[in-house]
Amino acid sequence: MDLTRKYDVLVIGGGNAALCAAISARRDGASVLVLEGAPKFYRGGNTRHTRNMRCAHDAATEILTGPYTEEEFWEDLLRVTGGETDEELARHMIAESKDILGWIVEQGVRWQPSLGGTLSLGRTNSFFLGGGRAMLNALYLTAEQLGVDILYDAEVVDLEIADGMFLSATLKQGDGHASVAASTLVAAAGGFEANIEWLKQYWGEAADNFLIRGTPYNRGSILKMLLEKGVEEIGDPTQCHAVAIDARAPKFDGGIITRHDSVVFGIVVNKNAERFYDEGEDIWPKRYAIWGRLVAAQPGQIAYIIFDASSRTSFMPTLFPPIEAESIAALAGKLELDPAALEKTVTEFNAAVRPGTFDHTILDDCRTEGLMPPKTHWARRIETPHYYAYPVRPGITFTYLGTRVNKQTRMLMKGGKLSANMFAAGEIMAGNVLGKGYAAGVGMTIGSVFGRIAGREAAKNAHN
Ligand SMILES: Cc1cc2nc3c(=O)[nH]c(=O)nc-3n(C[C@H](O)[C@H](O)[C@H](O)COP(=O)(O)OP(=O)(O)OC[C@H]3O[C@@H](n4cnc5c(N)ncnc54)[C@H](O)[C@@H]3O)c2cc1C
Repeated sequence: MDLTRKYDVLVIGGGNAALCAAISARRDGASVLVLEGAPKFYRGGNTRHTRNMRCAHDAATEILTGPYTEEEFWEDLLRVTGGETDEELARHMIAESKDILGWIVEQGVRWQPSLGGTLSLGRTNSFFLGGGRAMLNALYLTAEQLGVDILYDAEVVDLEIADGMFLSATLKQGDGHASVAASTLVAAAGGFEANIEWLKQYWGEAADNFLIRGTPYNRGSILKMLLEKGVEEIGDPTQCHAVAIDARAPKFDGGIITRHDSVVFGIVVNKNAERFYDEGEDIWPKRYAIWGRLVAAQPGQIAYIIFDASSRTSFMPTLFPPIEAESIAALAGKLELDPAALEKTVTEFNAAVRPGTFDHTILDDCRTEGLMPPKTHWARRIETPHYYAYPVRPGITFTYLGTRVNKQTRMLMKGGKLSANMFAAGEIMAGNVLGKGYAAGVGMTIGSVFGRIAGREAAKNAHN
């Protein structure tokens, strides 16, 4: 590859946002170079782990069970973010998402109907046939066939930016470095979730106990460079998508198989063997993204989902088996919790459970009375041996701090001036839409919609 050549568009990153940008720029006639920091085998960042994307549509499709209007999508986004979203940008994303359903298929990606089990997304979210890796394989193949140049193991370590204008990027190549110049830049290099030191700036030592669900390559280096070189930031650095995952999961890249969805079937205690939140508050998918932050706030950033034999087969099978014992005290011993404290918590919980008709698919009438915190639905006594526990820790999916962009995904500089030639898409600018909270499948919407726009705008910019 001739790196002395000046490309029209340089794309940094190798996930969904980067590939959508690269394909769209190339289709608009630009010469495009993609720099993926990871080796080829690990290409595709967090996108490798995904399964589905949320797009608005006015009628059922072959794989979606009913309409999901722009207005409903907007209302969902408004609710999960508590209004912390840029309305103009969010509405623009939602409107454009309609077209993405077909556009992404034109790039070789195939859809499949929603998976069952704990997911209730059949109407709103389209699933990638074969998952995120298959989706990426299709995008890479299309990009290659269109003539996009792709370099792996190409971590960008510096950006030359003068007065809001991108000039060149320096990348690591083996033991040396190379410089690449381009007329425009698309930054699609993810968030900073895999950078524990950066997370520690906001979370303190607690961040040492976080597990990172996705790629170790999203260290936020490009985001940091852009912010240091004058791009305006958006978003609260402590806001992120985080779920409770098995504490025995690897530090990075455990993916979706380390997640648990057994919270509703039991109680959750911290290392003092005390409950700390209503386990029956809401149905999936509204509840699943809160437990990461809840566990992060507990001592030692660890918690234990406790249940009994009556629930043992009620939820999806897990990667790591539950820890099992014949009595609550023996279970506490295995978890290194105070046996008397755990027995007290379970006894008090059992005494507070009121009779009802159990149905985990609706907000049923099984609840506690006189207990703090309450369990407002699905409360059943934990009294049938054997007893089980899953240890869980915060699993960070992705961070929301990002670069501020306009509707064309053009970066804004501090002071309000628009960058002459820098665009951003995906996690690196997710904070424009996600001030906090999450609706399943929106991460990929942000990548595809804004990636496609960024590529188009970058190609236009390069030709002017
Ligand atoms: C386990 C898991 C499951 C998920 N499931 C879903 C789902 O089903 N639906 C959904 O919508 N979202 C899901 N998400 C979130 C989703 O993965 C992200 O929102 C989305 O993939 C982000 O795309 P992206 O292109 O912005 O970032 P990524 O796909 O993470 O790509 C970032 C890229 O930048 C590269 N990079 C980083 N730094 C540099 C550098 N300095 N130089 C060069 N390259 C660099 C990385 O190697 C990587 O290729 C999931 C996330 C995880 C972790």
